[in-house]
Amino acid sequence: MPIARVEAFHVDWGRARSAWVRVWDADGRSGLGEASPMGGGNAALEIVSGLFAPAVVGADPCDQAVLQDRLFHQHAKVGPDGAFAAALAALDIALWDLKGKILERPVFQLLGGAWRTELPFYASVGGNAGRSPEEVCRAVERWLPLGPTLVKVRLDADRTRRDADIDGDIARIRAVRGLLGPGLPLAFDANNNYSVQGAIRVGRILEELGCAWFEEPVQHYHPESFEKVARALDIPVAAGEQEYTLQGFQRLADAGVAILQPDIVKTGGFTGLGHVAALARTFGVDLVPHQTQPAVGHTANLHFVASLLHGHHPCEWNDPSGAQNAVFRWPVRPEHGRFTLAPDRPGLGLEIAEEQLARRARPWGGAGTA
Ligand code: CA
Repeated sequence: MPIARVEAFHVDWGRARSAWVRVWDADGRSGLGEASPMGGGNAALEIVSGLFAPAVVGADPCDQAVLQDRLFHQHAKVGPDGAFAAALAALDIALWDLKGKILERPVFQLLGGAWRTELPFYASVGGNAGRSPEEVCRAVERWLPLGPTLVKVRLDADRTRRDADIDGDIARIRAVRGLLGPGLPLAFDANNNYSVQGAIRVGRILEELGCAWFEEPVQHYHPESFEKVARALDIPVAAGEQEYTLQGFQRLADAGVAILQPDIVKTGGFTGLGHVAALARTFGVDLVPHQTQPAVGHTANLHFVASLLHGHHPCEWNDPSGAQNAVFRWPVRPEHGRFTLAPDRPGLGLEIAEEQLARRARPWGGAGTA
């Protein structure tokens, strides 16, 4: 059945908003997608509502790759990065969810099958730039009862102040390494805040501490700096959450980045991440998706990683509050440190509690209708 309607809307959680997209077919089935909420998600919702929705009404929802390429090329001057890519991602995720509902199969099966349906996670602990080493340890400790198989400490510092507190950063990461002991892997995310020289200095400490990876050590727009850091260090350098195109990921892989981190709500959804997965295999590097949205984006990411041959790293999870679970029949949360994908739930497997979602949904623009 053709696409009948596309809804682009915010979901108001009180302290935060999500940017979601819902695609309906003519039989009344729907698929749910999510755009990165950067800038409140406003730009992505406007692109979906104003440009994409009118163009896809009447199309077959199973033609998601053709639709994505058509929209990408028709609106080339709006993109290719940022909110434009996030809008393509939201539509793609919704179409895969809808395709799963139509075919009565979970998305991971439509992707070719699952290597695993129980997926461990890593605790992504942010906001640490202004904290003392003890405060960082307390923030990490709150995660440990949930059973992460790796901890990532993110700085989230002011992006305009490079190398602002390298000694403090080293003290923070040493403290967390001491807290975790040798049994739990630790990764460190500089959020692009170091010079090449600063990154190499911190990276040598991370190597001494046996850290799993060094994420975004230098400015995201400067692959030459990544290359200098990657050449100087043995620790895997990770990056990719600021990339939106296959060519951007190729530049990172060329620069020696060992772990590519595309985000399914930024980089073309399942279709876009599938392309990056092929690129990662071509270069022989790892793909460990970035993911910060705790319900739709997270669940989509679980399906994608379930279908990855080399999905041996845990999935990122940064919000255990459960605040978004109110709008679904089944909560998105781990048990014994693992998220489980059910083989009998079609699409993403997220059944919406309609009344709860209606209370929180804030429609954006005049999305297309049949
Ligand atoms: Ca990061």
